[in-house]
Amino acid sequence: MALVLGCIADDFTGATDLAALLSRSGLPVSLRIGVPKSKRDESDPAVIEVIALKCRTAPVQAAIEQAREALTWLKEAGATRFFWKYCSTFDSTSEGNIGPIAEMLMAQTNARQTIYCPAFPENGRSVFMGHLFVGEQLLSDSPMKDHPLTPMRDSNLVRLLSPQVRGTVGLANRNVISKGSAALQARLQQLQETGVSHVIVDAISDDDLRTIAAAAVDMPLLTGGSAIAGQLPHLYIEHGLAAPPNARAHLPNVEGGQIVLSGSCSAMTRRQVASYAARSSSLKLDPINLSKQGAAAACLWLRQQPADAAKIVYATAEPGDVRHAQEQLGRDEAGHVVEQALSDVAREAFMHGTRRFVVAGGETSGAITQALGVTHLTIGPEIAPGVPWTFAEVEGETIALALKSGNFGGEDFFTDAFSRLGAA
Ligand code: ADP
Repeated sequence: MALVLGCIADDFTGATDLAALLSRSGLPVSLRIGVPKSKRDESDPAVIEVIALKCRTAPVQAAIEQAREALTWLKEAGATRFFWKYCSTFDSTSEGNIGPIAEMLMAQTNARQTIYCPAFPENGRSVFMGHLFVGEQLLSDSPMKDHPLTPMRDSNLVRLLSPQVRGTVGLANRNVISKGSAALQARLQQLQETGVSHVIVDAISDDDLRTIAAAAVDMPLLTGGSAIAGQLPHLYIEHGLAAPPNARAHLPNVEGGQIVLSGSCSAMTRRQVASYAARSSSLKLDPINLSKQGAAAACLWLRQQPADAAKIVYATAEPGDVRHAQEQLGRDEAGHVVEQALSDVAREAFMHGTRRFVVAGGETSGAITQALGVTHLTIGPEIAPGVPWTFAEVEGETIALALKSGNFGGEDFFTDAFSRLGAA
């Protein structure tokens, strides 16, 4: 099947979220971790490709080069439309990679204009009069103001984006969007005639997103969060660019042992771990112990468990315990020993027949996929908004992986995940 859309995401779990929303349509979606070294296999059934980069906080030039490489691969794979995905909270450093990458992609795709649509109403991210809100708060009043890597101290997207790009930034506000896609197209045209190539679009509801997607579907490059991208597949089907899906016929049926691995310490993950540990065999990892003795004891424990038994290995801990480990080992080292141990356990589990893995934690997911040698994921059914089951080949075996970052999913996410797979 010909590729319709090529997407570039600025981080790993953002890419998973994007792939999940695109996949709601039932169209086959494929996710690559990093730019693939080899050309795309022509028999690949996916009509949408997502490439996950790790460039959100990279220096601007390095980020642009990563995105350029991704674009080249997607073009060679046959994509003619492109999507640049960043976070719905417009996470960028003061130098900012969102604008520079968009500008490079525009130049390379002959796009005279593009839109910026981070809104994700389902998750409380909306844009009104160019200002980004998280729930009822302006972005700059939300906890994002204190983010350790990308503190967001301004909510005005026109003002945020302007210093990041050479071209002129403008706004298509809610008054226009509410009049429908023809009105929006007219506004985009008018902005283009006055030299505006970067257009922030307001959106406070899924209806707004539908209007925007209908107006902008033919632009060679679109940019935004996963929610606007999620509106594109059915338009492709309507426009005859992609065939209607046939009930996920392409998804494999994965059997074999199961395990939950958690390195996330977010509030929701802590509840999920407590809930699952109460009904399965569980092993808690202590970073200080791991730094002295490595993961051998955990691997031994794993070998003693029946492959198909419900089990969880986790380093998930309360903030005070995390602080203690960080004081003893240093923040990076504490994270590193945990990621290394969970990676070792994942390898060990794979060697002993485990084929279904649920992983909690964005960085943790990155470490575990790397340890398993996974670079290509096929997107399967969604477990919770933004978290799909994915399938990958490891040493000739098909495995199922659910990769969940921080606060995603409800309290019973781990149990839900395995039952969703059984029912897929
Ligand atoms: P999230 O998606 O919730 O941010 P991540 O996996 O991205 O989760 O980040 C959590 C980080 O915390 C990882 O680097 C992990 O190794 C580290 N970590 C996990 N457990 C502990 C712990 N008990 N003490 C210190 N660091 C920990």
